[in-house]
Amino acid sequence: MEKWQDQLHNFVDTLDRLKQHIHVTPEEEEAITSMKTKWGTTPYFASLMDPDDPACPIRRQVIPSLKERQNKFGVENYLIWKENRDTDEVRPDSIARQYRDRVAFTVTDVCANYCRHCFRKEAVVDRELKLRMDVDEGLAWIQSHEEIRDVLITGGDPFILADDKIEYLIRKLREIPHLQMIRFGTRTPIVLPQRITDGLKKILDGFHRVPIWINTQCNHPKEITDQTANAVFDLLRCGVNVGNQAVLLKGINDDVETFRELHQKLLTVRIRPYYVFYCEPAPGIDHFRTPVEKGAELIRDAIRGHTTGLAQPMYVIATNIGKIPLMPDYYIMGKDEKEYTLRNYQGKLTQWPVMPE
Ligand SMILES: *Cc1c(COP(=O)(O)O)cnc(C)c1O
Ligand code: SF4
Repeated sequence: MEKWQDQLHNFVDTLDRLKQHIHVTPEEEEAITSMKTKWGTTPYFASLMDPDDPACPIRRQVIPSLKERQNKFGVENYLIWKENRDTDEVRPDSIARQYRDRVAFTVTDVCANYCRHCFRKEAVVDRELKLRMDVDEGLAWIQSHEEIRDVLITGGDPFILADDKIEYLIRKLREIPHLQMIRFGTRTPIVLPQRITDGLKKILDGFHRVPIWINTQCNHPKEITDQTANAVFDLLRCGVNVGNQAVLLKGINDDVETFRELHQKLLTVRIRPYYVFYCEPAPGIDHFRTPVEKGAELIRDAIRGHTTGLAQPMYVIATNIGKIPLMPDYYIMGKDEKEYTLRNYQGKLTQWPVMPE
């Protein structure tokens, strides 16, 4: 089953199909049959699941859980607040804005994997929130806002769109004189690497005034395969850089060993770690969230100094007023007129001279 359309035709979104890949537990079965939520993944991604371990990091990202019924610490109507949809600025549903010079442009609500921890789950997974995703309306808004120089195309997963739709989007955006870059947020290199076809490569390829950047989402080293490596290499050959935006997920990647291995392994397939996001307080995903400090601690204890600097993402909380970095503040331990006392990743101290302004 190599064609990406076959992967979607055989989408694993029924109990029977899931049972072809794993031994489904009674809890998993009850969640699937009793909860009204969109779920599913590609046969490719399902094949990476551990058939015997319900705690498998891939299973937990794919299979609904009864825990999603609880919402003790999450925010109701999260997406409306998070994406500033109740402010005075008139914007199409497809445009989320937190910054002056760039926007997120949602072009579809279809995904190749319905991630249980999705922060846009109200629109994408649970589908209680209806957003109109009209591409031409969004393009017209961007065209008429000259301050926008960077458009982040997101979803859903924009690479689920047909080649001609992607080609149209890129062509129309490149015709806008104030646009300097296009970004795609897509999980396809991880959950559907078959999507990087010759046809898509032709659309993405080449030297252009307006470059294309991609960020994918990989949360655990198990998600990285030879097929991922090939898809990423193909994208790079087209002139498209590939970064990663991981989500910090309790019991999946919140221990030192897994967190380090994830970021090291991303570099082995040429994916550059960009962000690690704190898992957002969307309703029903309490069970995926750690304390906020955890991500900074993991960068301090697993990455910085312990391994290649390129493996270090920035740890951020994505709030309604933009992303806020929460990097470990462990390096300036003191300062007097003459010198700073600095601390390294091992806790060793050193001195550095003060330079007056
Ligand atoms: C994340 C996001 C961006 C892009 O942020 P960068 O820090 O530039 O990657 C832009 N707009 C919105 C609404 C976002 O959520
Ligand atoms: S691919 Fe992205 S938008 Fe789709 S469910 Fe996963 S996190 Fe949400």
